[in-house]
Amino acid sequence: MDLVVRGGTVVTATSTYQADIGIEGDRIVSIGRSLSAPIVLDATDKYVLPGAIDPHVHMELSLGDITSSDTFATGSIAAACGGVTTLIDFAQSRRGRSLLDTLAERRGLAGSQVAVDYALHVAVLDATPATLAEIPQVIALGCPTFKLYMAYADSWLDDGQLLAVLRAIGEAGGSALVHCENHHVIQELTTRYRAQRKLEPRFHPLTRPALMEGEATARLIDLAQLADCPVTIAHVSCRESLRAIQEAQRRGQRVRGETCPQYLGLTEQEYLRPGFQGAKFVMSPPLRTRADQEALWGALTRGELHWVATDHCPFLYHGQKTRGLEDFSLIPGGVPGVETRLALLHQWGVGKGKLSLTQWVALCCANPARHLGLANKGDIAVGLDADLVVFDPRRRVTLQARQLHQHVDYTPYEGLEVTGYPQHVLSRGEPIVEDGEFVGQAGRGKFVMRKMRG
Ligand SMILES: [Zn+2]
Repeated sequence: MDLVVRGGTVVTATSTYQADIGIEGDRIVSIGRSLSAPIVLDATDKYVLPGAIDPHVHMELSLGDITSSDTFATGSIAAACGGVTTLIDFAQSRRGRSLLDTLAERRGLAGSQVAVDYALHVAVLDATPATLAEIPQVIALGCPTFKLYMAYADSWLDDGQLLAVLRAIGEAGGSALVHCENHHVIQELTTRYRAQRKLEPRFHPLTRPALMEGEATARLIDLAQLADCPVTIAHVSCRESLRAIQEAQRRGQRVRGETCPQYLGLTEQEYLRPGFQGAKFVMSPPLRTRADQEALWGALTRGELHWVATDHCPFLYHGQKTRGLEDFSLIPGGVPGVETRLALLHQWGVGKGKLSLTQWVALCCANPARHLGLANKGDIAVGLDADLVVFDPRRRVTLQARQLHQHVDYTPYEGLEVTGYPQHVLSRGEPIVEDGEFVGQAGRGKFVMRKMRG
């Protein structure tokens, strides 16, 4: 053995126990008592978790003339400091472009920069025969999950296109991750508020009502049933969507749900901040109500929602968000979060008695691995990748943009004190974070081929 993580409390999605973990090369080779090796990482009084997986991030996402502010290098270093050892980003370009070319290009961009392992979902933006024919080839290249949009001018699919794409994905043995909102309703409401000169950030959520997120979710679920395709509803924010998911699950349909820390801990009140501050919270779907939050927590504990991702998509407040100073519809949508998810879910979930330790690990580590085809990740067991987090449950940290590693000039959680924070992180046996600071190498991360289980 090369390295032992000694004396910690191991937490997985199924159990909590005291053990040492022995590592040789990039794998876990032993779990037991009194293990020894040349290098010992002391985890006394700490939790030892599987490396967290963030299955929904957008590093250097290009939206025409504006690009999300984290590169694969800065974003993956921030991820590592937050206890994340695997990211799933998106290969997404434009309608008419080959999925295979898009995938190759994204891997080229990410590969030389990522500090942790990564995989890719592939966005399908049209339903041409050429695109549909590429779906099985993309799956064969290790990307069995496809992102579909029901909103955004450059990416929405109509119902017929959704049906065709879902059918092709289902037939090829893949699954879809879908952004469920109603494009045309958003357009109409936006036009209306702009005509009324209602242009401040607080009007953003009014153009994207929960009612229509629920409508789109229910419609997508029905289309998926018709197409016989397993689907995950991305970033579920409200009770209306949740109800559609619960109904489908009751009738046995393969429907999963994802939510994000921002929907679990923030509300629409943030849009009422003075001046232009509400722009920091412009994202889609938007923040909802306290009652929605409670419903989301309940769904997480009952297994109706399957994981918590971040939808990390940072834009600088000064210079990027400010593009929409005169018009909320020009504010680039998205919030940073890849670095803070594990600590926030510990704080709000475990700390407030909403989640057990094992549920916390299930939602941040094990479930994304299991449901998204990362066979060697998300658990602590002999033979798996030695991706581990030593988490100090007593360490107090006040979240501040200037101390985080994300390349963005704000955090939605500025000033929030959390108790419990990642201390050390190993990625395939290699220490990449020591005492909260990144000690790895950009570009060391590997692309992970994924395969869906049955
Ligand atoms: Zn997203």
